Amino acid sequence: MKQNYSSIVILTGAGISAESGLSTFRSENGLWNHHRVEDVATIEAFQRNPEYVHEFYNELKPELLKAKPNPAHLAITKLQNEYPACVSIITQNVDTLHEKAKSHNIYHIHGQINQAVCLNCGQILETWGDVSTETVCPHCAVAGMMKPNIVFFGENLLFMDKVEKLLSTCDLFLSVGTSGVVFPAAAFVQTAKLYGAETFEFNLEKTSNNFYFDHHIFGKAGETLPKFVDDLLATKSGQL
Ligand code: NAD
Repeated sequence: MKQNYSSIVILTGAGISAESGLSTFRSENGLWNHHRVEDVATIEAFQRNPEYVHEFYNELKPELLKAKPNPAHLAITKLQNEYPACVSIITQNVDTLHEKAKSHNIYHIHGQINQAVCLNCGQILETWGDVSTETVCPHCAVAGMMKPNIVFFGENLLFMDKVEKLLSTCDLFLSVGTSGVVFPAAAFVQTAKLYGAETFEFNLEKTSNNFYFDHHIFGKAGETLPKFVDDLLATKSGQL
């Protein structure tokens, strides 16, 4: 770890929210367990059966609404508040635990569970309530055009212009709790590394796409990330 970083990018995945009680994608009781990805997370599924897809995301909302941020989310907020660098969060998570931890500069590239987007006017509706094929858009007043603001397989990721800029200018890149098999997010480390960033992976285990990481820190993110942040803050105050 070097002394001074000016731009830090933190990519987070489902693993950072595991200690908040939210299942990861590929765990045995994963978020999508009992549902095939093809039925609830593709644009074709939504076009085929929007009622079913709305119902799936409506049913997920209460669990994600009541989840609380864990020490890993809080450590990122501490870093943002106390380290003199621009710290940005690119999250694949659709939960809002970074917001609940009072972080800022958060880019939800896969969307958010508490939002719906109107396919008629493009405006976002923020709601933890149910959304259905009958919901009326509060902006354009057209009914039946709301889609969960979740990026389905087959759709473009959100905020990619900003993400590309952040990746090509950061000097420290951290990947926390992501399996590295969902592209293009899995390739973000490669971009950051090619542009000269130092790269760290925080995971329970080595992931398959680990070639571009300079360092691997194994263990629960709720334990490893707070320690890492404290060490980084100590370099700032000259204690290390
Ligand atoms: P993933 O489930 O594919 O991988 C999670 C990774 O986190 C694994 O490599 C696992 O070893 C690691 N992990 C598990 N517990 C950990 C812990 N306590 N500390 C550190 N690492 C831990 O998740 P992904 O790569 O983010 O991709 C899944 C997709 O599913 C995401 O794009 C997301 O949109 C969606 N998803 C979101 C949520 C959420 O919002 N909380 C939850 C599940 C899935």
